[in-house]
Amino acid sequence: MTYDLILRGGRVIDPSQKLDAMTDVAFAAGKVARLGTGLQGDAKTDVRDVSGRIVTPGLIDLHTHVYWGGTSLGIDAEDFCRRSGVTTCIDTGSAGPGNFAGFRKHVIERSAVRILAYLHVSFAGIYAFSPRIMVGESEEIRLMAPIDAAEVANANRDVIVGIKVRVGARASGRSGTVPLDVALQVAEEVGLPVMAHIDEPPPSYEEVLARLRPGDVLTHAFRPFPNSPATAQGTVKRAVIEARQRGVLFDIGHGKGSFAFKTARAMLANGFRPDTISSDVHALCINGPAFDQVTTMSKFLCLGVPLNDVIAASTVNAAFAVKRPELGSLKPGSVGDATILSVNEGRFDFVDVVGEHLTGDRRIASEGVVIAGRWWHPQPHPAA
Ligand SMILES: [Zn+2]
Repeated sequence: MTYDLILRGGRVIDPSQKLDAMTDVAFAAGKVARLGTGLQGDAKTDVRDVSGRIVTPGLIDLHTHVYWGGTSLGIDAEDFCRRSGVTTCIDTGSAGPGNFAGFRKHVIERSAVRILAYLHVSFAGIYAFSPRIMVGESEEIRLMAPIDAAEVANANRDVIVGIKVRVGARASGRSGTVPLDVALQVAEEVGLPVMAHIDEPPPSYEEVLARLRPGDVLTHAFRPFPNSPATAQGTVKRAVIEARQRGVLFDIGHGKGSFAFKTARAMLANGFRPDTISSDVHALCINGPAFDQVTTMSKFLCLGVPLNDVIAASTVNAAFAVKRPELGSLKPGSVGDATILSVNEGRFDFVDVVGEHLTGDRRIASEGVVIAGRWWHPQPHPAA
């Protein structure tokens, strides 16, 4: 077999196959072709020495906003992926059924990186999110578009992985949980999961969780008070434990206002880890406090979550949430995406959304990105 690319000499950490070993990874025809030591290419094979580095399945950021230009909160997906080692951005509700076509044509189809999307149930998605203009798209009930959302979701099954809704005092105002109920009806109709955003009450964390079904995702799960999953005494709220037992997934979605070290410490002290670690990167948090995916992952590493589990939360677990098992894995036959990471030691300053600082001893950095079996960053692959 002829390989397009061989990553040679790295430490491969792939939680999807419980693998943590020094081995080469070979790619062919856009997919992972083979794992093993001493893999040999031919004259056309791009061989990259990644010794001293960690090779993981291509990182999946389960919560991003990459409808650049079409929405005020959107950032450039390719720039973001270069800096953070992400190969798959899951956009969460930037677009609704009224403007999804533009997102697909102008961004998703033009990007070198993989973009999948949760479609917002509100007609124009998150349309008014900027430093001076902030209008909750779930507040006006006339914007709820269940019929259009079902039509658009069904017409774009190749890239739409679920239905997004934002509820909370800021996002849904007096409409409370009603937008979530509409989103759940759409999700039920098209057979996809919901991702629910939560901010300040009302509704309460418990009210939102009570509505979610197995496989649905609660994002902003480790919020600060109010609507924190931890009690004032530092235990995990009963409703949170029950929802996990029922199969509800808990996503970080760091963002500008949705992740606190205090909450994370309480949850982790009780053995409650997030299912997925995501940045919720958007225009108002990309320059801090979220920055990017590797920074968000580093925070969990410094809070004591083992590296392999941090990687699982950004690869196989995220692939599970979006029901795309061909992603987030280096099993032969999987999509040929990989990320090359380093873990640097030193003293690093991290900050959360309430301004608490944490001095960490390690920091994960992106050293390279492979997309569809080709080296994509930092050095352009020579023209074939
Ligand atoms: Zn978001």
